[in-house]
Amino acid sequence: TQTTMDKYLKIEKLGEGTYGIVYKAQNKQTGEIVALKRIRLDNDDEGIPCTAIREISLLRDLHHPNIVRLLDILHSEKKLTLVFEYLETDLKKWLDGRDGPADADDILLIKSFTKQLLEGVAHCHKHMILHRDLKPQNLLLHVRKGELKIADFGLARSFGAPVRAYSHEVVTLWYRSPDVLLGSTHYSTSIDMWSVGCIMGEMLLNRPLFPGANVSNQLVKIQKQLGSINPDSFPGVTGFEQWRDPEQKTILFPQNHPPVNWSKLFPQLDPAGIDLISKLLKYDPDARISAEAALEHDFFKK
Ligand code: AMP
Repeated sequence: TQTTMDKYLKIEKLGEGTYGIVYKAQNKQTGEIVALKRIRLDNDDEGIPCTAIREISLLRDLHHPNIVRLLDILHSEKKLTLVFEYLETDLKKWLDGRDGPADADDILLIKSFTKQLLEGVAHCHKHMILHRDLKPQNLLLHVRKGELKIADFGLARSFGAPVRAYSHEVVTLWYRSPDVLLGSTHYSTSIDMWSVGCIMGEMLLNRPLFPGANVSNQLVKIQKQLGSINPDSFPGVTGFEQWRDPEQKTILFPQNHPPVNWSKLFPQLDPAGIDLISKLLKYDPDARISAEAALEHDFFKK
């Protein structure tokens, strides 16, 4: 089999992601610019599990304008390199370059980015593929064309949900749904929808919506906006151990937070937008709007 170095010329290091180092590179034969992602796993000595290889291979068939294309898979004994289509920047860098909350002009672009994000998510969910780690850093942008594409779809399933990034950076909790924060392992498409809501909010605010420092702080930040978690606001909460443990219960579920109206936080957003974000950020995962339904929402009608 061909090795990475036979086929690609490394140009520069782009960053360190969740699964390994990302390089900008060029296909020596075609001249095409690509992103190489060297996958490093915790149990590195054992090599790459063949189940992971099989699952990754399926991702090559995921063709959608809002999904970063997996172009090639290079696999030698212990190393796995994924070759992706290259995009110039990501949503995190793009937001860092802006100042202040979104104005009326920005809303149009934010609406377009939200719609493209939902199109990509809907496509993967239709094929029963979850992302599980949607965040601004893995939404790549082609700014001039106004295009947004999702990176790393399906990787969490193949390589395990990341606990720590390659660089030992703690994986962010900011986009994690309350059910997952409370330890739910019943993963469904609804976990990605919560992240979409957080990302939509972050684009509008130009700062993270719920920047929690740890799990309990994350849950408290969410409750300060959505109101206290209780069996009325979140019917499933009684199923979690933390709810039954009196000590945990007082820490994780303070009962003194009334819900704050979303229009207070997003005065620039029309009622349709407010309605959409409130349907994305629902405590009950079963009540959260699906990507397919969100695309039919009035917010995208005008
Ligand atoms: P990630 O592993 O997705 O967190 O990516 C780590 C860094 O590499 C981020 O700063 C991304 O902007 C960059 N990156 C990841 N994938 C690509 C790609 N396909 N094209 C260009 N840059 C990328």
